[in-house]
Amino acid sequence: MIYLDHAATTPLHPLVEEAMLPFNRDIFGNPSSQHQAGRKARNALDQARDQVAAVLGAKSSEVFFTSGGTESNNLAVKGVARAMKKIDRGHVLTTAIEHPSVLESCAFLEKEGFEISRVLPDREGLIQKEAIVAGLRENTVLVSVMAANNEVGTLQPVALIGAACRERGIPFHVDAVQALGELDLSVARLNVDLLTLSAHKVYGPKGVGALFVRSGTLFQPNNHGGGQEGEKRAGTENVAGIVGLARALVEIQGEKSGEIRSLRDFLLEGLLEIPGCRLHGSREHRLANNVNVGFEGVGGENLFMALDLAGIAVSTGSACSSGAARASHVLLAMGYPSSRAREAIRLTLGRSTKKEELEEVLAKLKELLPRLRR
Ligand SMILES: *Cc1c(COP(=O)(O)O)cnc(C)c1O
Repeated sequence: MIYLDHAATTPLHPLVEEAMLPFNRDIFGNPSSQHQAGRKARNALDQARDQVAAVLGAKSSEVFFTSGGTESNNLAVKGVARAMKKIDRGHVLTTAIEHPSVLESCAFLEKEGFEISRVLPDREGLIQKEAIVAGLRENTVLVSVMAANNEVGTLQPVALIGAACRERGIPFHVDAVQALGELDLSVARLNVDLLTLSAHKVYGPKGVGALFVRSGTLFQPNNHGGGQEGEKRAGTENVAGIVGLARALVEIQGEKSGEIRSLRDFLLEGLLEIPGCRLHGSREHRLANNVNVGFEGVGGENLFMALDLAGIAVSTGSACSSGAARASHVLLAMGYPSSRAREAIRLTLGRSTKKEELEEVLAKLKELLPRLRR
């Protein structure tokens, strides 16, 4: 199999797997237990928290472990908005191209009486700082903008947006899940108050993530019934997963994206030579491993299936959890008609991707496309 779907998930890094191993075996204590077994687990948890905090340039007491990016985004959006409920008809400002875990948390708040605005990107898939600033209101209680889009890979000017929010004293949340390998995650530089992390997009385990919450940020927890994670996220901690998350973050921060970028450029240039191939999203402000293209007159879903049969794993945009073929909300927000949006396929490279694999993909596409067009 040729795996070009690293934006959906990645395999475990061997060093991550190794770091986690003892916590699936011998060191199984509950970190809330006072005995030696518990204290060993607690030490590992503390150390992982320190490691994550160091990557963020944050205090350890500002890092809260969760079950992944989806939970962190839900906690951030609803946790801050609900804590600010005393403001009459609070307003949350986000973008139309966020991950569903942000968009649907906002839609949920809307039903509770909050006002939501969703800023549109430009045709290149970029959110302009000015568009965010123009959308701010007297009653804005939260701004949430992703650092990098999971479908078209566009990098957003989150540090600039953060500075604008900071000036006005408005809490700012960033979903950084796709940007972990690429972005300097310093929360001071980014001017963020909340930041979402997930392990499995960066060679860590599935089902574990973290939320940075700047101390002093008003926040209402969702889980009740345990004092874990500074009472922000009750429930016995996933110790092995958290150890894996910390290790994966440290590893990915140390990796250089130059090699992946040049492989990606090789793939993209090969694709653009195929008649009818069109790139979606900015080429310049883009994740090093992301390609999102469409082939004129070829449904992305059909191409996806033909490639899958040939042993090549790609995606039609986002990993749609329902399996339904819907036009991407990101491409629609960028102004593409749904016929164009349905052509999209996303190829995302990883640390194990080889040039020969990309050559094979290009050859396979050249063989498949004329048949699919007919
Ligand atoms: C994958 C992803 C999420 C969700 O993370 P999970 O850990 O899979 O729940 C959130 N935001 C973005 C941008 C993502 O790519």
